[in-house]
Amino acid sequence: MKNLLISAAILLFSGISAQALTVNPYSGVQWKTQHKANFHTHTNNSDGGFNAEYVVDTYKAHHYSILVITDHNLVTYPWTKFSALNPKWKDRNDQKMDILTFPGNEFSRGVHDRNMFFAQIPGDGADIDLAFKTMQDSLSLGIFNHPGRYWKIDKTYTPGEKYSPEWYVDYFKKYNSVVGVEVYNTPYDRYPNDRLLWDEILTRSMPATPVWAYSNDDMHGEKELMGNYNMMLMKNLSVADLKKAMIAGNFYISNEPGKSGKALAPKITGISVHPAQKKIKVSAKNYSSIEWISGIEGNGADRKSRVIATGPEFDFNNFKGNYVRFQIKNDQGVTLSQPFGFQ
Ligand SMILES: [Zn+2]
Repeated sequence: MKNLLISAAILLFSGISAQALTVNPYSGVQWKTQHKANFHTHTNNSDGGFNAEYVVDTYKAHHYSILVITDHNLVTYPWTKFSALNPKWKDRNDQKMDILTFPGNEFSRGVHDRNMFFAQIPGDGADIDLAFKTMQDSLSLGIFNHPGRYWKIDKTYTPGEKYSPEWYVDYFKKYNSVVGVEVYNTPYDRYPNDRLLWDEILTRSMPATPVWAYSNDDMHGEKELMGNYNMMLMKNLSVADLKKAMIAGNFYISNEPGKSGKALAPKITGISVHPAQKKIKVSAKNYSSIEWISGIEGNGADRKSRVIATGPEFDFNNFKGNYVRFQIKNDQGVTLSQPFGFQ
């Protein structure tokens, strides 16, 4: 009897304290038109290997509808004046090409850890706070690039130390202009710990401060062309709609090492949340497995992202974490969702 009462009390308690899903980046999005985007590309205006018109023509030919050139410390924009930026280049008309573009810059001095979008802000952005403030004043948005290049899994950080998870979280809290982090850089995944650091960040930031993930080519040459992409779920191909999608996390991301240019990694066709059943349901094409991830397991250099469930439905009736995200695989690559937040 006593045990029964205790069980009933536990049940009641867990019922009362059950988590509510409070952050759903896919609420109300449209799935029909998915805009393939790359937010990190170089030309030979900085250290890339290709002329600007070759870069934009190649992405356009492979059905990218959003592309931004992010040369180091330079704003390679507008496309209609490529020849004025470099006499060896030919101009391109992005409107006629029906591709959405805007100014971009990869802030680089020693480290090149951030991309700036939507504003004419050249320079190295070395003073991080000043750069983020300038971006905020210019209605720019930005992301941290390949953070796994700087954060070391085998180093013990004091919270808040440069490149510690808390250091990133502070910037996301402080500046609305910082909206995400690259978790796949290059089709060959140059910094695999990017995802582990993302989970360390989400463990500390969710649900109050969602941090959205990006998968970018960081294209310098043939090796990096078209293996990573972001599928933006927005109505109109406009800067205004793109900014909204980037702020709200209305997109998913893919890594395809074979870089076919045909987007062969699993395609998500719908995500629905069922509050009464406490389930998230995923519809996707061409996949072999779905894993749900929340938090970290292990210690020190043995840490891994923690897989807590598998399959197309996530039942959060007994879920106690502050976020969950999923990854879908096939033999061509992997597709990642943005995090869902719980309170
Ligand atoms: Zn770069």
